Amino acid sequence: MKVPLLDLKLQYLALKSELDKAILRVAESQYFILGPEVQKMEKEFCEFLGCKYASGVSSGTDALLLALMAIDIKPGDEVIVPTFSFFATAGVVSRMNATPVLTDIDPVSFNIDPNEIEKKITSKTRAIMPVHLYGQSADMDPIMKIAENHKLTVIEDGAQAISAQYKDGSSAGTIGDIGCYSFFPTKNLGCYGDGGLAVTNNDELEHLMRIKRVHGGEPKYYHKVIGGNFRLDALQAAVVNVKLPYLNGWSESRRKNAERYNRLFKDAGLAEETGRVEFDENNMVLLPKAVYKDLDGLSDYHIYNQYIIRIKQRDKLRQFLADNDIGTEIYYPVPFHLQECFSDLGYKYGDFPRAEEAANNSLALPVYPELKDEQLIYVVEKIKDFIKG
Ligand SMILES: *Cc1c(COP(=O)(O)O)cnc(C)c1O
Repeated sequence: MKVPLLDLKLQYLALKSELDKAILRVAESQYFILGPEVQKMEKEFCEFLGCKYASGVSSGTDALLLALMAIDIKPGDEVIVPTFSFFATAGVVSRMNATPVLTDIDPVSFNIDPNEIEKKITSKTRAIMPVHLYGQSADMDPIMKIAENHKLTVIEDGAQAISAQYKDGSSAGTIGDIGCYSFFPTKNLGCYGDGGLAVTNNDELEHLMRIKRVHGGEPKYYHKVIGGNFRLDALQAAVVNVKLPYLNGWSESRRKNAERYNRLFKDAGLAEETGRVEFDENNMVLLPKAVYKDLDGLSDYHIYNQYIIRIKQRDKLRQFLADNDIGTEIYYPVPFHLQECFSDLGYKYGDFPRAEEAANNSLALPVYPELKDEQLIYVVEKIKDFIKG
């Protein structure tokens, strides 16, 4: 049986007539950049996410960059980021000639550990950039409290978490000052190229992002500030507009698949409970868990952009699964503090042990909405074969 990590063709075939029509409509309009499709998309996201403003931009990376430009990050400023994320999170900080200040992660959620943030704050700190990794909100309450106490801006990297919710039901990405999302094809809401979104409830930040998206001119050709070309194509917005009404259904399917995996791993005798961080003979596979709860016990809404297990001998397992036609991926094999390009930041191996461990033993399994039950069963069977021989 073949189980790819992701199969986008199934989603396309399900929505083919709607998508083809939307794409043709853009071709016929010959209106390619920003314009009515993008405006429609922005309006719908404000409603969907529950925020005041949304701006379509050229990618998730550019949304982060635009956010840093909007708060006027200066060379030498410091931005606190988790050391374990996709490269863009720290890359954009360095591109502004500011300094990414790295922190370790919480071992259950893989997200920034709020307890590590305060000790990193200096007189140069300007912002905190939590990442909602794998589709699960970071623990925003303590982060917002620290930011308020120290007058710091919070920019949320929600690239993997569009429609995820924090424990009180607010959308991940709308809690801080600016939230950034990506429509890269492998995200839960993917367009047909590069695309992204930046959201805020702040009038002044909205204004700055809107003009800096198009070089900063206001009016056009008159510049008080410098921006860039961070515009979104109409074609990408048209694709997103078709897909948005299906997003909640896809999230539900991903959550069901994750629960099904958890159950199958338990039934196979490979795990006892979710959210464990230590291996033993009854827990050869460590399972993910949505961890933040409010006082009523309401848990955050994890949308499983990735379903991540932890396992010893991860690389050998990955090869074994590949030999059995099962696609997996490692997100991410090298934390920022061990990346060659960041060697001048002065970190070394051992500085962030929880991130290093995650880089060594975590593995993403297929969890996309169209996955069939026999495929899920097959994946767990093969992992059991690998472990029990
Ligand atoms: C995908 C991703 C980005 C970048 O998004 P692009 O649209 O690919 O530029 C940034 N941060 C995280 C955590 C991501 O997963």
